Amino acid sequence: MSSIEKFEYVFLGGGKGGKSLAMELARNGKRVAVVEQGMIGGSCINIACIPSKALIRSARIAHTVRSQKILEGHADARLDMKQVHRFVREVVDGMVEVNQKAFDASGFDLILGTGRFVAPRRIEVTLNDGGVRMVEGEHAFINTGTYAAVPDVPGLRQADPMTHVEALALDRLPDHLVVIGGGYIGLEMAQAFRRLGSEVTLVQEAPRVAMREDQDVTDAIEAAFAEEGVDVRTHVKPLRVTGQSGQTVSIELSDGSTVNGTHILVAAGRVPRTYDIGLDAAGVEVDARGFIKTDERLATSAPNTWAIGEVAGTPMFTHASFDDYRVLKSQLAGGHVTTKDRLIPYALFIEPELGRVGLNESEAKQKGIEVRVAKLPMAAVPRARTNGDVKGFMKAIVDAHSDQILGFTMLGQNAGDVVTAVQMAMIGKLPYTAVRDLIIAHPLISEGLNLLFAKLP
Ligand SMILES: Cc1cc2nc3c(=O)[nH]c(=O)nc-3n(C[C@H](O)[C@H](O)[C@H](O)COP(=O)(O)OP(=O)(O)OC[C@H]3O[C@@H](n4cnc5c(N)ncnc54)[C@H](O)[C@@H]3O)c2cc1C
Repeated sequence: MSSIEKFEYVFLGGGKGGKSLAMELARNGKRVAVVEQGMIGGSCINIACIPSKALIRSARIAHTVRSQKILEGHADARLDMKQVHRFVREVVDGMVEVNQKAFDASGFDLILGTGRFVAPRRIEVTLNDGGVRMVEGEHAFINTGTYAAVPDVPGLRQADPMTHVEALALDRLPDHLVVIGGGYIGLEMAQAFRRLGSEVTLVQEAPRVAMREDQDVTDAIEAAFAEEGVDVRTHVKPLRVTGQSGQTVSIELSDGSTVNGTHILVAAGRVPRTYDIGLDAAGVEVDARGFIKTDERLATSAPNTWAIGEVAGTPMFTHASFDDYRVLKSQLAGGHVTTKDRLIPYALFIEPELGRVGLNESEAKQKGIEVRVAKLPMAAVPRARTNGDVKGFMKAIVDAHSDQILGFTMLGQNAGDVVTAVQMAMIGKLPYTAVRDLIIAHPLISEGLNLLFAKLP
């Protein structure tokens, strides 16, 4: 048996929050080890946010050239998927390199291999290049993330469907991609591949896509997708799959119809990576869905053992995992920052872009909160007009009695960035009138905020 190497802090998995905390501790002279299966920088950089946004950028260029009709020969322009693939790889490789340099500079011990707990805070690592190491920390952190679920549909697994991992590595365009799942990942990938030139069918079991959003938002998304030729089928379940993804596939749906395609991409939920990492030996409990149980300090059921990011049930965004780092940095220093009541915004990188912070109209109604609602079509925003892109709207939810902004949703250009301005106002507890009367440079998309809040009774 290999001898036990002692550290002050050990990390299983190097996701966003974990790597950030590990670097910080190491820079402060602590003895830190990070056990990572091989994705330097975690999944965001290697197989998720970064490659998907690089792919979406290429898809946007292709769409713009085709739709704006200002270049001669635009209709004959052909996509070079090998170049798209090369760009995605370059972006990913560049960010991996930046991360590797930052890891090296911080001085933590990066152990490349697959780890599992064999005792509280003790991890056995099967090294990628052979051999085993045993590391133990005074504190242990679990940041192993999630992976794509493959729904239990007869024939689906045998069809060898793609997940985001394989789809983002394609260097040949699918002729006809069938996306299973109409959540954020499914929507981004469906529109990107359609814009690159694939036929795309999106199958969503729920009655609407992006079910967390208000109906007017999802109606607008579905209309925009239909206009671009994405065949969105909602309220239908795949019942049986035949064929092989990458060749030909056939999917029987619960409404009696059949979709024929060449590739399948599953984007139907995420599974926490907790089943094979020795959590029993670590004394760490999981909930009914397999996520690690934590309190609002991110402490698990085992002493000095903490969980970070998606595996801890943190909302599935990189910036949320990063905020877990802030919580733990405070907790380790005896501070009081927790996950309670944190305001986590998000963006969905389709067009029109979706940005959201705080409550939407349906959530306010469910909670029985009396609100005033303001809505402004993007066509009323001068910059949206000069950009030739007037799809979507802004929508604000304001407390009926106090003038406090409770939430903001936007569908339109730069929505994710505009959300940040409203988020600042919400955190600063500014009344909506402060945003209404803010002097905003003309013509910016965020100028729409003046117009939006002026509409409130
Ligand atoms: C296609 C896609 C697009 C996305 N786009 C966005 C976006 O635009 N914006 C956004 O905010 N979020 C996005 N997300 C979500 C985002 O990627 C995650 O929320 C984010 O990466 C945080 O992950 P994490 O910190 O929980 O762990 P991860 O980054 O997933 O890290 C977990 C790490 O643990 C390692 N690991 C697992 N098990 C072991 C083991 N036994 N031994 C050693 N190492 C192990 C893995 O190799 C991995 O590096 C996207 C996700 C997907 C799938």
